[in-house]
Amino acid sequence: MSAVAATVYEDRFDQLNAEFEQSDPSSILAWAAATYGDDLAVVTSFQPTGIVTLHMLSEIAPGTTVITLDTGLLFPETYALIDELERRLNLRLVRVRPEVTTEQQAARHGSALWERDPDLCCQIRKVAPLNTALFGYRAWIAGLRRDQSGRKAVPIVSWDAKYGNVKLSPFATWTERMIWVYLQAHDLPYNALHDRGYPSIGCNTPACTQPAATGSNERAGRWTNSSKSECGIHVLTRRD
Ligand code: SF4
Repeated sequence: MSAVAATVYEDRFDQLNAEFEQSDPSSILAWAAATYGDDLAVVTSFQPTGIVTLHMLSEIAPGTTVITLDTGLLFPETYALIDELERRLNLRLVRVRPEVTTEQQAARHGSALWERDPDLCCQIRKVAPLNTALFGYRAWIAGLRRDQSGRKAVPIVSWDAKYGNVKLSPFATWTERMIWVYLQAHDLPYNALHDRGYPSIGCNTPACTQPAATGSNERAGRWTNSSKSECGIHVLTRRD
């Protein structure tokens, strides 16, 4: 798709969002792949919605670039899951790492920055690296859903001023249950930590990822000692 045509689509977000509300995510992914081609990337931390996204795309548009942020602090179970899905789905995977190691970060900002200033830590280890990685991509796909805490206003397609491109959340209308039904129906692997009480899995530090009580919301257990609820990659608007 040419840049001119893509720009026309960017002027039609309201119309597209109205159409996509009734669309299956696979149709939205097919539209994105046809519209943006090689200028499209998926960004995923291999949470359940991301895995469903990757599986659908492996059938619709194999070879789509997949970006994951390797903060250097992920759980062993997460690294194992990434390796397994990279092989199984034959992903074109880009593992994006921060400019500084955890040791260099500690030398500059003190040890365990995630306990004292998690926003700065996420900026260094996630937001800034993604900004660099997404440069040149006209559109990116995220795994946001409206039934997740604090995400009820997520649009399916929007302009992402933070990264200067189009952002798509094809699963905005899906529920957590629909995601797990899909995973099981397609015998897809998921992070082993979910079976050990972790609803959401980020970095392997007690300050950032904790198990939560059964029945907690899907984002529970993240940054439990602070008001932080997002890593800073997503700029969300609440309509509470
Ligand atoms: S999740 Fe925690 S350790 Fe990971 S980048 Fe953010 S603050 Fe740092």
